[in-house]
Amino acid sequence: MDTAVFETPPSTSSRIESGARRRPSRSEAEAAVRTLIEWAGDDPDREGLKETPERVVRAYEEFFAGYGEDPVALLATTFEETAAYDEMIVLRDIRLESHCEHHMVPILGRAHVGYLPAGRVVGFSKLARLVEVFAKRLQIQEALTSQIADTIQGLLKPRGVGVVIEAAHQCMTTRGVRKPGVSAVTSRMLGCFRDDPATRREFLSVIGSQRSAPHEA
Ligand SMILES: [Zn+2]
Repeated sequence: MDTAVFETPPSTSSRIESGARRRPSRSEAEAAVRTLIEWAGDDPDREGLKETPERVVRAYEEFFAGYGEDPVALLATTFEETAAYDEMIVLRDIRLESHCEHHMVPILGRAHVGYLPAGRVVGFSKLARLVEVFAKRLQIQEALTSQIADTIQGLLKPRGVGVVIEAAHQCMTTRGVRKPGVSAVTSRMLGCFRDDPATRREFLSVIGSQRSAPHEA
């Protein structure tokens, strides 16, 4: 398997989500899907396609549910009575389903999230949900990686955070350059995950990513 490795620059800040833009109505969204079906060359009125615009819009509600969720509120409940626990916390192999913002086709892979707490920890399920909130938006993998790491760093104020995402982009495998089997690996290391080689090594070893360990930028 070929592997492309990018180190997300630490200066990349999370993008601001859309503000007061008018949201089209459901029927406008369905009409847009109908137009795309016609553009593809088919008849949107034939039996098999009649319900398709409605189904696609419902699917979009699931694919992009992350716009309706607030990652800050999600991590608001932290547990602070854990001063005794000061070892690394790692959630690995979190199933990742996102959509690329350039082609709106799936990005499928795994995310690994680790941090070294400084008093505050958050439930494991919240970490997995955080990945999902950002994944269920239009994304590029580099930004997704940074948004997850930066949010954890900003809210939990741990001694360090590491996020590694390995994913295959269907815009690369089913169209364009058509390179099946290629996965892209992105990482964002903050605090001691960035500055302390031993911490970084421990994290990469726990997630089993030694083979694709991102090199120092
Ligand atoms: Zn794409």
